[in-house]
Amino acid sequence: MTVPPDLLAALTRFVEYERILIALDFDGTLAPEVDDPARARALPAAHEALLCLRELPGVTIALISGRALESLAAASEFSGDVPLVGSHGLEVRFDARDAHPAIDAADRDRVRALQSRLEPLIATTPAAWLELKPAGVAVHTRLVDAPAASVLHDAVTAAALELDEALTVREGKNVVEFSVRDATKGDGLRALRARFGPNAVLFAGDDVTDEDVFAALEPHDVGIKVGAAATRADYRVADPAAIARVLHSVCTLRQSLGIAQ
Ligand SMILES: [Mg+2]
Repeated sequence: MTVPPDLLAALTRFVEYERILIALDFDGTLAPEVDDPARARALPAAHEALLCLRELPGVTIALISGRALESLAAASEFSGDVPLVGSHGLEVRFDARDAHPAIDAADRDRVRALQSRLEPLIATTPAAWLELKPAGVAVHTRLVDAPAASVLHDAVTAAALELDEALTVREGKNVVEFSVRDATKGDGLRALRARFGPNAVLFAGDDVTDEDVFAALEPHDVGIKVGAAATRADYRVADPAAIARVLHSVCTLRQSLGIAQ
């Protein structure tokens, strides 16, 4: 299996920019989906390719995820020097020294009220679970059969919006999230762009919320959709194994340019 020719041509152009940012979603993009999110890990080949890229002059790698920042840091297993964007753009950590406070006391009260309202509903569906996040809650239905998941989805959505109509609702694969802030992964990319000033960006992601990043890309950037769902990205690959090959290719192409520090 190799990188498709049109994507390879785009990567070859991409690596020639002086400063490049390679930003990636984590779950379903670097890491295969697993039932227990705490056990998700990047494919070894993807992790190796990122370590390779991290060492190259003019290259910044970063992760943009819906996970809470803490959870993303743990699952990605990178030391503090890899910039991380968590909670769909709300939490940003450029390096180990700075973690931006995500929310204030009033927001925390809204999150607690939301949690109290939804927990009894979720308890009626044993295989569903609630994930508490810094700015909201996510209701996971990956292990619930489709009809029951649909019923629970509608029930929690109605209850959440009845409680707090200002909530932001984010639909994902087998998850619906209610947040007291309306940040998107596109905001996360804009924060990374402002901080690192890349000449070009590569982003890959697999879920609906990644479309906000694809929408924030510029004409010379490279957007790669993982999986078969509809997308506005220009390129598409099948799975995390294919992303690992893409990242390996980017590293090899960049090294072949012999750009010095
Ligand atoms: Mg994902």
